[in-house]
Amino acid sequence: MTDRGTDTVNRYWRGSTRVAAPSARPSRDPVPIGRAVEDVLPFLAAAAARTGTTVPDPRTPATTTCDRCGADAGWHRTVGGRWMLLDPGTWPTGTVPPGRRWRVAGDGTAVNIGGANPTDRCRISHFDVCPVNPPPSDSPLLLGLWRRNAERACPGPAAPAAH
Ligand SMILES: [Zn+2]
Repeated sequence: MTDRGTDTVNRYWRGSTRVAAPSARPSRDPVPIGRAVEDVLPFLAAAAARTGTTVPDPRTPATTTCDRCGADAGWHRTVGGRWMLLDPGTWPTGTVPPGRRWRVAGDGTAVNIGGANPTDRCRISHFDVCPVNPPPSDSPLLLGLWRRNAERACPGPAAPAAH
């Protein structure tokens, strides 16, 4: 008889990495997502070494371009475990309406700071300035960025050539 039965009770497969199964009764407090990611990184690094792939650093955003308008942006995981596409750069917090202000924590997590103004600058969601969406009417800054993205996505007619 093999110990396979015991093995399936205490462990399970997740991709190509064998991970210890969580206990039925957790004996510790909930762990912030940033800490949980740090705990998993050694397993990912070992899997990457075996397969010859690279593991991205979770503190750096997954840079991409918006598939609707082509603007540069970066994906960040939120506190709630969802993903938020943030525009690059920071803006004076007072020019961004409350509820649309974002900060990126040291572990790369995007945090909506509501109406708070902990520092002078904040990030914004790309969805607030994506030209596929209606233009924002509650902030001249967001409207200016929306127009910039609209011009990049769909440039106007070229200026006539000088003769
Ligand atoms: Zn877009």
